[in-house]
Amino acid sequence: MTRAALHIPDRLDAIHGDLADLYRDLHAHPELGFAEQRTAAEIARRAVDLGYEVTTGVGRTGVVARLVNGAGPTVLLRADMDALPVAEQTGLPYASTATDPVTGDPVMHACGHDMHITCLLGALRILVEARESWQGTVLAVFQPAEESGAGAAAMIDDGLFDRFGTPDVVLGQHVGPLPVHMVAVHAGAAMAATDALRITLYGKGGHGSRPETTIDPVVMAAATVMRLQTVVSREIAGGDTAVVTVGAITAGTRHNIIADRAELLVNIRTFTPEVRARVLAAVERIVRAEAAASGADRAPDIETIETFPILFNDPAAVERTAAALREQLGADKVVDPGLITGSEDCGVLATSCGAPLCYWYFGGVDRQRFLTALQAGAVDRDIPSNHSPHFAPELDPAIDTGVTAMVTAALEWLD
Ligand code: ZN
Ligand code: ZN
Repeated sequence: MTRAALHIPDRLDAIHGDLADLYRDLHAHPELGFAEQRTAAEIARRAVDLGYEVTTGVGRTGVVARLVNGAGPTVLLRADMDALPVAEQTGLPYASTATDPVTGDPVMHACGHDMHITCLLGALRILVEARESWQGTVLAVFQPAEESGAGAAAMIDDGLFDRFGTPDVVLGQHVGPLPVHMVAVHAGAAMAATDALRITLYGKGGHGSRPETTIDPVVMAAATVMRLQTVVSREIAGGDTAVVTVGAITAGTRHNIIADRAELLVNIRTFTPEVRARVLAAVERIVRAEAAASGADRAPDIETIETFPILFNDPAAVERTAAALREQLGADKVVDPGLITGSEDCGVLATSCGAPLCYWYFGGVDRQRFLTALQAGAVDRDIPSNHSPHFAPELDPAIDTGVTAMVTAALEWLD
């Protein structure tokens, strides 16, 4: 049976109301990374009802739903589940008022991971209902804690591939600020690597009136921050791209006390392994050298607090998947967004088992609203981005787009 004969739009019509209800429920009950208990239970319940073999607690709160349907390729379909510490301001009737039970912070699905769960469950339903039309294994991975970059690794460390099989391809998607019914996919390095560092500089504290008895970490930190500005400008080639941001600097308590330490929080974005290695080495060299220049007795501590590798889309996998998406959605509905400076840990699922990856964005914005903003040159101003307290995908067409894209891509890779 061909994809066309499957009539994805008709099948979607039959389940659309149920998926919209699911989305509203997930949206109203967001949970932070590794705390997705309710979310995981709801996913598991639904996947069991659909007839999938379901395993919970993979990588703490992850869920794996597998359907073995004869011999054939194993296709990993991935959705992330976690929300963010953001106070929702959309005013939607199903807006979140949730707070995290541990920290008390407001919690919101401000990145649309509730949409990813909804679309993957919708795809699983269509795939099981159409199981006579394909052969192989569907391996649905509902991943925790994408926002911290720790969730995919946690599932792999918990034996994801040993326990459930190694996939022939990894397919993932993210809702984003482009018009509904559209998909954006970029071959090769598609999303940035992130490295977040906590750097502690050690001085020697004392009285503000007697600097000669101290080693001042404030001056050490200031010199370090200034010198770090030369990493991108003086060490990275003009044709390469990198970002080095010192997002926080903390030291001291009073005007007449010289502190004994300073802390910097640094965020680094790069697009190739070579540039990444060069920037990280340069940052470490400068931090150590400035401490030595200040006469510090103790070497600085450099701790990685978050890390995302570059998301690399396999060019052949992108070509094959994009061709299927163009056929299903329309040739003008599949675009190349170029490099994205955001980061994603979906690629870890592919690189750790050697499978090719195809990861795409799908539209969540009303078409007319997007065009109006585009004509005004104000997409960045008028269309709330992911992580905004106003982030609100256009529910019905966004679900249709995400389910259609996921089913189409999965069927392309199944026999
Ligand atoms: Zn996010
Ligand atoms: Zn996200």
